[in-house]
Amino acid sequence: MRATIDSDTAWDAFTRRDRAFDGHFVVAVRSTHIYCKPSCAARRPRRENVAFLPDAAAARAAGYRACRRCLPDSVARDREAVIAAAALLTSDVAPSLAALAASVDYAPHHFHRLFHRLTGVTPAAFARTCRADRVLAALRTTESVTAAIYAAGYAAPSRFYADAARLGMTPQAAAAGGADEVIHWTCLIAPPGALLLAATARGWCRFAFDEDGAGLHATFPAATLRRGDPAWRAGAAALVSCAAAVPSDVSLPRPVRRTAFRTLLHQSATAIG
Ligand SMILES: [Zn+2]
Repeated sequence: MRATIDSDTAWDAFTRRDRAFDGHFVVAVRSTHIYCKPSCAARRPRRENVAFLPDAAAARAAGYRACRRCLPDSVARDREAVIAAAALLTSDVAPSLAALAASVDYAPHHFHRLFHRLTGVTPAAFARTCRADRVLAALRTTESVTAAIYAAGYAAPSRFYADAARLGMTPQAAAAGGADEVIHWTCLIAPPGALLLAATARGWCRFAFDEDGAGLHATFPAATLRRGDPAWRAGAAALVSCAAAVPSDVSLPRPVRRTAFRTLLHQSATAIG
């Protein structure tokens, strides 16, 4: 078991069948000689019959067999598949769900559920956040909105304009560095790190983990930036709480967690908004 998980925490996670702890430790049951994921659906043994071990290899070395119900050996493979898929979704031309699942050797429906369970968002939603990132980058580096549409990998303008709604301003205004826009912003602590949230009167225009006010200014140099007042910050905090309430696997790499979290913020904003 990793040093950060004590046996009371492990037992608590096990009794709650908390999927977030799958892969962090396995539960070895002395009375049956079987080891399980923390989330296994099987009936809970008595605590005195249970040992918490770091991983499946340690359980096997101690003479335990893998549970046939929860398949504890699949956890590492599942996580690697999700990480590989996230890398593909971040790339220029994100594959379809079928191609994505095939690339990591899972059935599409099963992989969709797996990706959602570990990241908190669907592959399509994750891909949309990556595309919106490219939209903004393309708007800032190409000479026209039309050029940006194709530079960002869009076959048609309609999808582009749907994603560009996340800019919180027109594509033309974003291309002009936020000209004539007033942007309110604040920094808050979110589960995957320090987070900047910024919005115009039209809506959220930026969620970013990699910057402070200076980074925001670099992105929208022509905009008027104002620190959000307490009421505005309370709205931002509510949005973060809403996104943070969605379960996800905290052992995924930080870039994956951050993209997933920004996706959850957009989804929460739509739900609240
Ligand atoms: Zn089990």
